[in-house]
Amino acid sequence: MPSSTTDSPTGPFPPMGEHSGEPHSDSVAGKLNALRAAVLGANDGIVSVAGLVMGVAGATSDRQTILIAGLAGLVAGALSMAVGEYVSVSTQRDTERALIAKETRELREEPEDELAELAELYRRKGLSDGLARQVALELTAHDALRSHLDIELGIDPDELTNPWQAAWASMAAFTMGALLPLLTILLFSPGLRAVVTLVAVGLALAGTGFLSARAGDAPAGPAVRRVVVGGLLAMAVTYGIGSLIGLGLA
Ligand SMILES: [Zn+2]
Repeated sequence: MPSSTTDSPTGPFPPMGEHSGEPHSDSVAGKLNALRAAVLGANDGIVSVAGLVMGVAGATSDRQTILIAGLAGLVAGALSMAVGEYVSVSTQRDTERALIAKETRELREEPEDELAELAELYRRKGLSDGLARQVALELTAHDALRSHLDIELGIDPDELTNPWQAAWASMAAFTMGALLPLLTILLFSPGLRAVVTLVAVGLALAGTGFLSARAGDAPAGPAVRRVVVGGLLAMAVTYGIGSLIGLGLA
C-alpha cells in the first residue's frame, strides 16, 4: 500500500482557497483566455462592420441602405464567428477526449510503465530519483489518471471547453463590437456620421487593444497603436472605395 507510507498529500496544507488569497493559476489562465477571446471577437465586430458601413456611407447617404448593409454584416459576421469557434473548440475537445481515453487504456494495460513514466517526468522537473519515485507512487495511488493528464498533457478533465459556450461567447462579443459603428453611422446626420464613427471606432479600438495587451501581459502602447491604425486604415479604404463608386468613378 504505497499511500500509507506518508501523510496524505493535502494533509499538512490549508485548502487551496484559503491560501493567502492566491487565485488558482489554472482558473486565472482560463479567465484570461476567455477575456482574450471576447476582446478579439469585439475587435472583429468593430473593424469589419465599421469598414462595411463606412464603405456604404461613402457611396450613399440613404440611411436604410446603410442599415441593411450593416445589419447583414453584423448577423453574417456573428454567425461566422460562432460556427468557426464551435468547430475549432469541438475539434480540440475531441482531441482531448481521445488523449484521455488513450491514457486510461495505458494505465490499465501497463501500469508499471506508466508509473516509471510519471517518476521520470518528476525527475526531469528536478526531483531526486527517490523522491520522484515517491511522488509518482503517491499520485498514482491518489488519482493516477488525473496525475498523468496534468503533468503529461496539461489537461484538466473537469475543465474541457464547451463548444456551445465558446460559440455563444464569440457571437455575443462580435455583436457588441459591431453595434458601435452601426449605431454611430445610423444615429448621426450624413454630414457627421463618418467623422463620429471614425472617432468612436478609434477610441473603442484603443480600449480593446489595451485590454488584449493586458490579458497577454504585453506592453499596451504598441498593441493600441497597431489595432487603432489597422482599424482606421480599414475604414479609410472602404470609405474611399465607397466614395468612388458613389461618384460613378469606379
Ligand atoms: Zn501516462
